[in-house]
Order: sequence, then C-alpha cells, then structure tokens
Amino acid sequence: MTEASSISDRLNQLKTALPEHVTLVAVSKTKPVELLQAALDAGQVDLGENRVQEMNAKAEHFDGQPVRWHHIGHLQTNKVKQAIRHAHLIHAVDSNRLLAEIDKRSKNAGLRSRVLLQLHIAQEAQKHGMTEAELDAILNAIESAPLQHTEICGLMGMATFTDDAAQVRSEFRSLRTLFDRYNPGHWNTCSMGMSGDWRIAVDEGSTLVRVGSAIFGSR
Ligand SMILES: *Cc1c(COP(=O)(O)O)cnc(C)c1O
Repeated sequence: MTEASSISDRLNQLKTALPEHVTLVAVSKTKPVELLQAALDAGQVDLGENRVQEMNAKAEHFDGQPVRWHHIGHLQTNKVKQAIRHAHLIHAVDSNRLLAEIDKRSKNAGLRSRVLLQLHIAQEAQKHGMTEAELDAILNAIESAPLQHTEICGLMGMATFTDDAAQVRSEFRSLRTLFDRYNPGHWNTCSMGMSGDWRIAVDEGSTLVRVGSAIFGSR
C-alpha cells in the first residue's frame, strides 16, 4: 500500500514539473478512498475515474470536499444518466450517439455537461476514439443543430503503448494539430499524456495530463 506521504511527494514533484497552464488529473481508479484523501490533503482537486459506479460512490463519499471528477474512460450510452450527476468533465466521447445522449440526459436533469471528443490517434485497434472525418461530421452536425445542454471543451487522445518515443510524439502531435485545426475558439482542453508519456504530451501541447500509477502506485 502506498503511503500518504509518498502520494503527496509524487504530486508535488509532478506539479513542479508541469507548466502552469497544464491541469493535472490524478487518476484514482481502483484505489481506496484513503489514498484519494491523501491526494486531496495534498491540495489535489482534479481526480479521474473510469467507471461510473465507482466515480459516483467516491463522489458521494467525498461530498462537500472540493473535488472535480473526471470521467476518463470509455462511457456506455446506458451509463450516461448516472455519469452526468458528478462528472465535471467527460473525457472520452467517441460518437455522435453518445454526445446526443449526454445532451438529452443533461436537459432532463437540468444540468450542463462538459465533454471532450476522443480521437483515435494510436496504432492499436482496441483503443476507442473517432477519426478526423467523424470529428468533422460531428462538428458540422452541431453547427446546424447546436447542443443546448452540453459544452464541447476540446479533444482527448491516447498514444500507442510503446517504448518508441518518436511514435508517441507523432501521435500526440497529430492530436494537437487537430485541436488547433478544429478549435472554434473556445476550446481550452487538449487532454493527452499519462504516467508513461506525459512529458512528451506536454512537449507537444497537452493542456491536461491524466496520471494514475505515477501518483498512486501500480494497479
Ligand atoms: C487509467 C487511465 C489513465 C492513467 O494511466 P496511468 O498509466 O496509470 O497514468 C489515463 N487515461 C485513461 C483514459 C485511463 O484509463
């Protein structure tokens, strides 16, 4: 079990190393609430979870504390109603169908949801995310029928899990290029970079890194 003091040390090292404009999301999925409390005690506000049920249970546990919950993993349409209750930002919207469901459920709940569109940048078939053509189509559809209860804040992507730094770099670069190409002006979040590759991601223009094991220990 990782000690609270080492969580605090790792967070501080990361925050020192990250440029000021880069948000650190501490990915706490699978970790017990004691370790999340250690991160909160160290001043961390943004926490990432990839399962709706776990995120909501933790959100209820930490009710009243200043936490911003990030839903970072694949989200199923039938989980949207639950996901929007506590999510400050939903990172991995990968279809128009999912986006429409988030907008509809947010309307019903009287909420405004914030989302990122996930792009497929890796050379791995099993990673989720849309192509540039799909992104283009979604943004065009929204232009003619604007979302009423959902704000798109930018893009998210995951690089290939590989030691080939040049490949990772070129994948992050392609995401940042799409971010700049399609940004209607108000996008502020390019979510890329995890424990193993956040330095490269920041180098390539990430504005938000999602770091789990480098803070909380391996899962
Ligand atoms: C688990 C996860 C992370 C964090 O991964 P680490 O390698 O532990 O830093 C980041 N992003 C997503 C989408 C994840 O599912």
